[in-house]
Amino acid sequence: MSAFMANHGLSGNIMTQSIESIESFAALQLPAPLLTALADVGYETPSPIQAACIPILLAGRDLIGEAQTGTGKTAAFALPLLARLDLAKKVPQALVLTPTRELAIQVAEAFQKYAHHMPGFHVLPVYGGQSMVIQLRALSRGPHVIVGTPGRVMDHLERKSLNLNRLSTLVLDEADEMLRMGFIDDVEWILEHTPKERQTALFSATMPDPIRRIAQRYLREPEQVKIRSATTTVAAIKQRYWQVRGADKLEALTRMLEVEEEFEAALIFVRTKTATVDLAEKLEARGYEAAALNGDMTQGLREQVIERLKSGSLDIVVATDVAARGLDVPRISHVINYDVPYDTESYVHRIGRTGRAGRTGNAILFVAPREMRMLKAIERATRQPIEPIQLPTRGAVAERRVTQFKQQILDVLGEENLDFFYEVVRRMESEENVATRQIAAALAFLAQRERPLQPDGVDVPEYPAAPPRPERPAFAERTERGDRTERPAKAEWTERPPRAERPPREAREPRTFAADQVVRYRIEVGRNQGALPKEIVGAIANEGGIEGKLIGQINLFDDYSTVELPSLPPEVLDILKRTRVRQLPLKIRVAEVGEGDVRRPPAKPRWDKERVPARESPRKSPWETQTQERRPASAEFPSKPPYRSEKKPKPFGKPADKPPVKKRPY
Ligand code: AMP
Repeated sequence: MSAFMANHGLSGNIMTQSIESIESFAALQLPAPLLTALADVGYETPSPIQAACIPILLAGRDLIGEAQTGTGKTAAFALPLLARLDLAKKVPQALVLTPTRELAIQVAEAFQKYAHHMPGFHVLPVYGGQSMVIQLRALSRGPHVIVGTPGRVMDHLERKSLNLNRLSTLVLDEADEMLRMGFIDDVEWILEHTPKERQTALFSATMPDPIRRIAQRYLREPEQVKIRSATTTVAAIKQRYWQVRGADKLEALTRMLEVEEEFEAALIFVRTKTATVDLAEKLEARGYEAAALNGDMTQGLREQVIERLKSGSLDIVVATDVAARGLDVPRISHVINYDVPYDTESYVHRIGRTGRAGRTGNAILFVAPREMRMLKAIERATRQPIEPIQLPTRGAVAERRVTQFKQQILDVLGEENLDFFYEVVRRMESEENVATRQIAAALAFLAQRERPLQPDGVDVPEYPAAPPRPERPAFAERTERGDRTERPAKAEWTERPPRAERPPREAREPRTFAADQVVRYRIEVGRNQGALPKEIVGAIANEGGIEGKLIGQINLFDDYSTVELPSLPPEVLDILKRTRVRQLPLKIRVAEVGEGDVRRPPAKPRWDKERVPARESPRKSPWETQTQERRPASAEFPSKPPYRSEKKPKPFGKPADKPPVKKRPY
């Protein structure tokens, strides 16, 4: 057995490969169209189960793979099956049996994804509950691969609507689940009704006796591949997991990062190269100092990222397993397993990047309900329970922001000379007839505008009632038109109208633009990039803080589009240059003469139309509908972590042992 196999706990009669050769899919001798598809989806290296199974299945051998969801087992059988297909023959050549329709669909989708560059390839999922008529029609078109649940496959075999005479490979996926769900007789029946000379692969997370018996009876001299879990101690690391439930993983991640107490720097693990870039960009857009680390980057670039993480100019690195191998940065206080690792070995390796140099480390694992077995395996391997955690509530995040905010005020009070500012406040009090507390509240409001202390969805905290201030005169406030009206003295700063009565954030804090000047801008996404007008409206409205109703005519061309907007100030242009639609920066600029001209007469800019607030207006024009569909900026909470003067605010409070950051003008 090779060192690689031993390292990954693989046992059985497995062909020996050197570690170098298993570092790439190309070394596994997969055909070029598959390699291209793998590059498209961003897989960097084969997972251990893939490295072990692909050569066996390519060689036409039978196989028993002890592997659960999350190990990459689908690609482990799908890739060699695809490599062995004869696309010219429009008959089922491979059958995959799965316990559930969800898994059948998922596996069929995986085939489709890997066969992206195999024109003419056809896979068909068949499962109970789906219309027979549709299935019969689809079967008659001659799919190359069938993925189905045992009952429905049996039905079709009995009706003779499915002919498996030319079947060369049969895969039993999640065999122990099929046993548990009572399908094992059907499975045996199907095995009896397929050609004897077929290749058979059986994947199962566990090997109960009935499955073992099936393997003995129907498989021919199978090779065995097992991911063994070596036990390891990871004492200095506090391990927790969060069960991914419906909620968006990115939203969960940002909330956790905001509330984690001991946070200093995080290493976040994802599975693909594409995901490293994608997630790092999304975190950057939310104000975190984040960068990707993956095998596609040159050695020089990778070293730069690691140096920046060490020096503190980066707080988050999003990496693949391979790229993070051997990383030793004592600042890493958290390892986040955003995607589950393939095996316990790689989990242990990942979390070993934290808790270094005698510090305590934190590991958080995101685990989907289907991947709970992996969690159990990790607990067994590390001989430690992993504690569940709840998603921090919006309220908890808000509370944390308030705490940090208060601390910053105290820091300024303790460290800065504020004489000039006291004088400004004193003058304001006497000249404008307002109380210090009102001024303070207004300043707090201004300071937190970009990153709200009290984001949408968070209730107003219950502050103790302020003591009465009979000496203070009622204050005056300005109406939208600018004239002064008396507001009842009762209206204390603690008394805000209930959230439901307040207008949405966009309406409360719109940027103001000179709406009388319409400028046609060019953006670098168009039809070929799949951009939709509603996405463009959404991105410009949300990122540029431009009310939807101010966004006028949008013309889509093949590789660019034009948008009519009010004249934008440089700082908004700057933001919109970097704003992305379909992953591409808009690179907005004023359109040249003729750019954006289309034959049909340009529609009137919408701000020339009836001036009614977007939310109240009857939505008649398509643009109104698009505005309506756009993602509200506030839904992104927590969009940005609070209160840093730097361009890219640091998301978290510094760990307790660090001195507070000195100057933080707002
Ligand atoms: P599975 O265990 O087959 O359910 O796969 C779990 C997840 O891992 C799927 O989302 C796959 O797309 C992903 N995956 C499988 N193989 C690889 C690989 N070699 N590199 C990165 N991601 C992978």
